[in-house]
Amino acid sequence: MAETETATEDAVGEREADEKSPQAVDEAQRDAQRKGESKPGQRAEISNLEIVRHYFEIAAEKLGIAEDVRTVFWEPYREVTVQIPVKLSDGKIHTYSGYRIQHNGARGPYKGGIRFHPEVDIDEVRALASLMTWKTAVAGVPFGGAKGGVNCPADKLEPSEVQKIARSFMDKVEKVLGPTRDIPAPDVNTNAQVMAWMMDEYGKLHGHTPAIVTGKPIALEGSYGREAATGRGCVYMFRESAPHLGMTPSETTFAVQGYGNVGSWAARIMQQLGCKMVAVSDANGAIRSDEGIDANALYDFISDGGVITEFEGAEPIEADDLIAVPCDVFIPAALGGMIHEHNADRMQARMIIEGANSPTTPAADEILQDKDVYIIPDVMANAGGVVCSYFEWVQNLQHFRWDEREVNDKLGNIMRRAYREVSGRAKEENLPLRQAAYLVGLERVVDAARTRGYI
Ligand code: NAD
Repeated sequence: MAETETATEDAVGEREADEKSPQAVDEAQRDAQRKGESKPGQRAEISNLEIVRHYFEIAAEKLGIAEDVRTVFWEPYREVTVQIPVKLSDGKIHTYSGYRIQHNGARGPYKGGIRFHPEVDIDEVRALASLMTWKTAVAGVPFGGAKGGVNCPADKLEPSEVQKIARSFMDKVEKVLGPTRDIPAPDVNTNAQVMAWMMDEYGKLHGHTPAIVTGKPIALEGSYGREAATGRGCVYMFRESAPHLGMTPSETTFAVQGYGNVGSWAARIMQQLGCKMVAVSDANGAIRSDEGIDANALYDFISDGGVITEFEGAEPIEADDLIAVPCDVFIPAALGGMIHEHNADRMQARMIIEGANSPTTPAADEILQDKDVYIIPDVMANAGGVVCSYFEWVQNLQHFRWDEREVNDKLGNIMRRAYREVSGRAKEENLPLRQAAYLVGLERVVDAARTRGYI
């Protein structure tokens, strides 16, 4: 049964009547999405939770899993909601909601990132937690699935404010965490520094415990290769699948939506292979250049505080038009639901590698299947992060460190294996990769739960 601790509502922080807070704007947009009022260019017609449920149900149906058993694998095992009041530099207390949702632990300790974003809500965290259950199973790493988040605008806050939120969140959820229970990691707007604060906070109560979080800085027993791992994993997927589509790196162009951890690493490693980035976006806008955009120079430019649309040698375009730029490979690496029924038919790429979680709605997925676009789904494409988190955890438990080559080689082996297993199943059953991946994942989780005697 789910265990729920409920937080009080976002309470403090009154504002002028005519001044809409970022939270209020986001809330209005979410409402429109829920009511199906999304317009072209806006986010999806359905929620991330509905997206994951859609594919879960297809897989459960195909595997002939009875309704009563299905509930066990759909519902989260434990949900924790906490209140996070923090005094920010405006002198007021802002009260955020924090969540940790442990979806299924049949295959091992719960594992999943923590997102700091105003759009975080309990349903989104449920969706992401469930996705982690199938992802760890598809990758074959011995973890269950979890996710966490705080609905704060971290990218607009001072580092000291983010630190307060990270420590407060850890204080409140530590009871359900532990190196053999649940191990968080970074996600949107959280990074190695945030993980370091969380590890430190946990250590105040439990003593030095590096294996409590992964994605830590190298100086604090982080793993070599972890920061790049999700993006690198996406590129391993490209390398495995490109020959089947007759693509060679030197003749491949690509576009990236979201130039954060996943997007910028995927772009830099694709470029190393010889591919050319022709369009890219982040939360501040989008740019394109048929001559190519240097992924390394763009990364340095943004890291130094530059705004993407001011990057020299590329032309600013409407963010909504990124999807329509002619290219071979499109890498969504921002938020969920960005490829939807109103923009999917504008897509020109032949391959999509889903760096982000749930970037494609089921309606868009169908449109893209009809266009013969080869989609490497999130549940397999972005598993590189959790695979490398697994390596970090293993190293932490032994207080031992592997070098970067060893990490990357092992990551490559696991990603290639996942691709072979899922694409083999897709071929056998004549299914798109996404449906095959869910079949493989769900089958493994059900098998583990049965073998334990849980069902
Ligand atoms: P991040 O915070 O480092 O980067 C997010 C990027 O998306 C930023 O560049 C931001 O500006 C951009 N962005 C935000 N809104 C946008 C919009 N409307 N249009 C275009 N760009 C926008 O986050 P991340 O860790 O790179 O995560 C990105 C995605 O990858 C998320 O869906 C996350 O769940 C998924 N993911 C991350 C990891 C990981 O290891 N970090 C692992 C698996 C999946």
